[in-house]
Amino acid sequence: MSDTETRDFIRKIIYDDLESGKHDEIVTRFPPEPNGYLHVGHVMAICLDFGVAAETGGRTYLRLDDTNPGKESPEFVEAIKNDVHWLGFDWGDRLTHASDYFDRLYESAIELIEKGVAYVDSLSADEIREYRGTLTEPGRNSPYRDRSVEENLDLFRRMYEGEFADGEHLLRARIDMASPNMNMRDPAIYRIRHIPHQNAGDKWCIYPMYDYAHGLSDAYEGITHSLCTLEFEDHRPLYDWFLDQLQPEHRPRQIEFSRLNLAYTITSKRKLSMLVEEGVVSAWDDPRLPTISGMRRRGYPPAALRAFVKRAGVTKKDKLIELGALETCVRDVLGDIAPRRMAVLRPLKVVLTNYPADQVEMMEAMNHPANPDFGTRELPFSRELWIEQDDFMEDAPRKFFRLKPGGEVRLRFGYIIRCDEVVKDDQGNVVELRCSYDPDTRSGTGTSDRKVKGTIHWVSCGHAVDATVRLYDRLFIEANPGAVEDFHEVLNPNSLEVVSARLEPSLAELAGADAVQFERLGYFCRDSEDDRDDAPVFNRVVTLRDSWAKLEKAALGN
Ligand code: ATP
Ligand code: MG
Repeated sequence: MSDTETRDFIRKIIYDDLESGKHDEIVTRFPPEPNGYLHVGHVMAICLDFGVAAETGGRTYLRLDDTNPGKESPEFVEAIKNDVHWLGFDWGDRLTHASDYFDRLYESAIELIEKGVAYVDSLSADEIREYRGTLTEPGRNSPYRDRSVEENLDLFRRMYEGEFADGEHLLRARIDMASPNMNMRDPAIYRIRHIPHQNAGDKWCIYPMYDYAHGLSDAYEGITHSLCTLEFEDHRPLYDWFLDQLQPEHRPRQIEFSRLNLAYTITSKRKLSMLVEEGVVSAWDDPRLPTISGMRRRGYPPAALRAFVKRAGVTKKDKLIELGALETCVRDVLGDIAPRRMAVLRPLKVVLTNYPADQVEMMEAMNHPANPDFGTRELPFSRELWIEQDDFMEDAPRKFFRLKPGGEVRLRFGYIIRCDEVVKDDQGNVVELRCSYDPDTRSGTGTSDRKVKGTIHWVSCGHAVDATVRLYDRLFIEANPGAVEDFHEVLNPNSLEVVSARLEPSLAELAGADAVQFERLGYFCRDSEDDRDDAPVFNRVVTLRDSWAKLEKAALGN
């Protein structure tokens, strides 16, 4: 049960309905159209629909709202089911489709005709648009609006039987062509589409419109609260109109909340599918996309996504949430559960000239600095090591506490070393550092209590595992790319960088998709698609700190 204080406005309504006895069980539905993959905005709807039912002991349907054949596919259906499960929700035996109700919807349409509140229109699409009027001008009645019930029944049956071509006729509700709400100007109920349906096969050549099918499907399933985003607010009178006309046994109530938008990305299936089809990203589960499958492949834990939408809250206010807020949730979860490992992303060789060539010492390393339950592991240490290129600077400023010529640094879980000589290639690039180690400074057991300011990570050359590491960054350079006319112009050209990294040997045995922390670098996980045992591929889930926040602050001079 949610705490009374922290209930959002929808939960308040729902709990009131339980307390007043209006309902004794809450029934909700999550109704995606299978025309694309689910994204972070859907996470909010899923957590609300499934969450509020679960916490009140109610039920939730996963209903595929498949009234638009042609755009929909079984691939999307499978992806949706997979994503909802992965997020931690279960619909039990309540997986349904709007198309499961096509027979009932057809019968109900006949009922509307018989009541004289629906008619078959034979205007062309252009004429219908013209007759519809505008926001400032009322529409006009179609010359076919007053057809007799018999004629309407006959034409609708023949539409069903496939006698007419697409667009030749349309079944419309007979409401009010002068309504200030355009949705009430005799909206379409059924249209002719001679295409097969991904779930219903080729039985139908007429398909119900969303507004008609949606409310009735809610009623058929006994949905008590039909929760949707604000763009459906103007459709609510129509939702209610169909229910008023048909008086189904159960009467659902539609309540709208604001969409969740995430900065520097887009949450429109149409635009996401453009990115996929144009090859801007590799697939629907490209780790840069805000799709649930992309975020899963990226390594975001489901608990982080749930925590994120909870923090965002259910409201009626517009939401453009900082990417940093999502990344903070990811770090919060991974910080506690990800074991620490060492990896070098941009390797620079260090040779310890005073270390025996054939010697290997096993260094004990903690798997989690704050949680001894994670245990320890052994890291091989040898004469030749990889360190991060960034951890060496030739002309270092005074406050650079990593390695510099003549300077000292501690190798984490290892020794203090001093840089004696810098080896360069013909072009003047630094290719190797010749260093000496202080044998008295071994971590944990050393006899010297000498301290140095900096500690850096390293991997033994002879034991390292080569891996491809993908470093992801935000996909757009503009905070609200959805508002830019052509989002292609604001794509971040550096959203993916691929490096050849060296990993400590234990990472070769890392199983599954669980994330680890590469010390000082961020959280990483094996890629679910491209990773192979002989050629590991890791994705960077998230950096350890919000580097953009730092940059933005620097740019502002504070
Ligand atoms: P898109 O605009 O990306 O195509 P949609 O609204 O058409 O999204 P649906 O498959 O119809 O996608 O959405 C299923 C449910 O998820 C609906 O109830 C819808 O209101 C909700 N939903 C979609 N996008 C968001 C969002 N950004 N924030 C919160 N809920 C959303
Ligand atoms: Mg929609």
